[in-house]
Amino acid sequence: MRIAIYYRVSTKLQEKKFSLPAQKEELRSYAHKENWTIINEFKDVESGGKLKKDGLNALLDLVEEGGIDAVLCIEQDRLSRLDTVSWEYLKDTLRENKVKIAEPGVLIDLDNEDDVFISDIKNLIAQRDKRNVVKKMMRGKRQRLREGKGWGVPPFEYRYNKESETYEAKKDWKWTIPFIDNLYLNEQLGMKLISDKLNEISPTPTGKKWNEHLVHTRLSSKAFHGISEKSFVNGELISANVYEPLRSEETYNQIQEERAKRGKQFSVAGRKNSTNIHMLKRSQLTCGHCGRKILIETHGLKTKPLYYAKHGRKMSIKDGHVCDISINTVRFDSNIIQALKEVLTSEELAKKYIDIEYDEQEINKLKAEIKDHEKTITDLKGSADRLLDIYLSGDLKKDKYVQKEKEIAAKIEFQEVALNKLNRKLTAIDSSSFTYESLYQYMEIAKNIETELTALQRAQLMGTLFPKGIVYKEKLILITEIFKGIPIEITVPIKDDPYTWHHKKKFNV
Ligand SMILES: [Zn+2]
Repeated sequence: MRIAIYYRVSTKLQEKKFSLPAQKEELRSYAHKENWTIINEFKDVESGGKLKKDGLNALLDLVEEGGIDAVLCIEQDRLSRLDTVSWEYLKDTLRENKVKIAEPGVLIDLDNEDDVFISDIKNLIAQRDKRNVVKKMMRGKRQRLREGKGWGVPPFEYRYNKESETYEAKKDWKWTIPFIDNLYLNEQLGMKLISDKLNEISPTPTGKKWNEHLVHTRLSSKAFHGISEKSFVNGELISANVYEPLRSEETYNQIQEERAKRGKQFSVAGRKNSTNIHMLKRSQLTCGHCGRKILIETHGLKTKPLYYAKHGRKMSIKDGHVCDISINTVRFDSNIIQALKEVLTSEELAKKYIDIEYDEQEINKLKAEIKDHEKTITDLKGSADRLLDIYLSGDLKKDKYVQKEKEIAAKIEFQEVALNKLNRKLTAIDSSSFTYESLYQYMEIAKNIETELTALQRAQLMGTLFPKGIVYKEKLILITEIFKGIPIEITVPIKDDPYTWHHKKKFNV
């Protein structure tokens, strides 16, 4: 048998039995006695509770190369003092490669271990590895940017030239930026009118309609005078000349001055002539309690409107009661703005609103939730079957049956939507495609949501960022599906109802 010897030495274990010379002596002579061939020896030293795993890693390489039949170590417990994950990973690797663990007098075959558990651990490790890959990738991106090379998807006026490693402007689309600049600076048009003019000429390079947003990006992004600028989560801001310029820096600065001026006009005019549109007006909201649609309805004066998140007038009855959720949006408006700001401030603050680090516990919780939903669906399908039996046996009138059957079908659909969502989330976590960095890159445009946008623009931006939302009595969940259709949820708290509170106070007094 071909073996490797693995020594672990701990500064904690001062006993002679576990000293390196003692281990060497014992294991080598044991191998000799058994007539085993020692292919190699590996050593790790544990000090201050930390284990350097260089030896173990080298051992695993050898195992994976198929170089040995067993690992010999002083006692299995020596190895199992590794942290659990390393231990399971080691066992798994050994098992996969049909390598046994040997200790003087004992030979352990790992083939009978619990498969499911091991594969769980393996997934966990694979996932961690991937996360590290993403981190490395981000480091790579920083480096590229420093070297003036750029990365990622450029604005649609550009294409990446692999040979020169630069972003070139597409020949047919060089006209858009000067065209927009002229309308904005010289003709003094607003973004909406500019997008109308663009649409008269042509759709965007991706075949879609121009809108205020796209124009806004073109007026505010430094890309069009060449600069790629990224702020990284660690606070670092890197800018580099990456794009072929389509306007001068001077024009860019002029545009920013103009924007600042108009921004002020907007806020003054905005108060007088409000466009009466709530920022969630373009997001599809559903009720977390009954699953029905939630609308943002406008009440009160045109100049000073109040908005309520509530069900439409058409009441439908499910579960035998009417859900009467109705929330004055002043209870969450400022919380939404604050949430966006904090999410964009740091990963630490973002954690208040979003689950970013998915650990084992999180994954297990998700899996449990998925199981729950699956069970509920099975149960509901069972009820539908039983209902049909009752109907067929003649104990239920047809209209009653149809009504009940519909109710169950609606419940099943509701459950299935939730289940799908959870499954996608689990896939996302497994593939580690979600990182704070990627979220930040995407949400960055919401940074100035408070100051720079009109009410309409704000609603458009929110509708793009969060096409969906769920309203509960005590919280609002904004959902983005930016990561390959994977829902990421931002949970915004809802404040107590100030009006109810006033009433109560009055009554109490
Ligand atoms: Zn409801």
